[in-house]
Amino acid sequence: MTAPKVALVSGGSRGIGRAVVLRLAQDGFDVAFCYRGDENAAETLTKEVRELGGLAVGTKVDVTDHEATAAWIDRTAGELGPPEAVVTSAGITKDGSLALMPEPDWSQVLRTNLDGVYHVCRPAVFRMIKQRAGSVVTLSSVSGVHGNPTQTNYSASKSGVIGFTKALAKEVGRFGVRVNAVAPGLIDTDMIGQMGEQARDKLLRTIPLRRFGQADEVAELVSYLVSGRAAYITGSVFEINGGLVV
Ligand code: NDP
Repeated sequence: MTAPKVALVSGGSRGIGRAVVLRLAQDGFDVAFCYRGDENAAETLTKEVRELGGLAVGTKVDVTDHEATAAWIDRTAGELGPPEAVVTSAGITKDGSLALMPEPDWSQVLRTNLDGVYHVCRPAVFRMIKQRAGSVVTLSSVSGVHGNPTQTNYSASKSGVIGFTKALAKEVGRFGVRVNAVAPGLIDTDMIGQMGEQARDKLLRTIPLRRFGQADEVAELVSYLVSGRAAYITGSVFEINGGLVV
């Protein structure tokens, strides 16, 4: 019997990351995911995956902490095996006009959304290069592709993720490692659930398909990208946004 494939998902306890954990577990991966603080969400997800006959291991790790993230990946590789797939979904927003933006709102967003991707990918990709195989999917955003007012911090972090993805794809392709970015539009998770009804309605009118995306629609794309079906795809950015261009 061959050993199960191993996937790492940052920010896996809620939203898009959660849907990715469920989907990759159904695809036959043993999934290690991390989250920042919501232990209940992580436990519920672990149980749900177990009931589906899969394995998901949730660990509280803040991706802004370089050492803690590296230690988590070390432990996971030792216990489950080296990662074959990595999905970086941990992300936050702290919106506001640049002219009034407090420094912590800038640095926390960059630290989580961009530095966090480096903290996860560096030790994981090191192992993928040794294995001569692997696939990384980073979560960017429509805001990173097109820019969005009141999101200079978020847009900068998500544009940074695209540059990171393209550069890394060129660096590691010859070792059989693929790297792609997914740039969602408005997906119905807690991240946009915090909006008022008026703001949501206004946004809906800007989406040609007239609905928010679902997290499992993003997970479907991620599942494809980490699979052998996408063996010739690397360095690409996939927009999944119902036609929305902010
Ligand atoms: P959610 O807010 O629903 O979930 C965020 C997840 O990331 C949670 O599991 C959270 O854990 C975790 N997380 C946040 N900060 C950290 C941290 N420092 N260390 C570890 N884990 C952390 O977000 P979404 O699912 O909506 O978004 C997922 C990704 O997709 C993000 O990168 C986001 O920028 C991107 N995206 C989302 C869009 C949307 O419309 N929803 C649109 C475009 C892009 P905990 O709950 O424990 O804090």
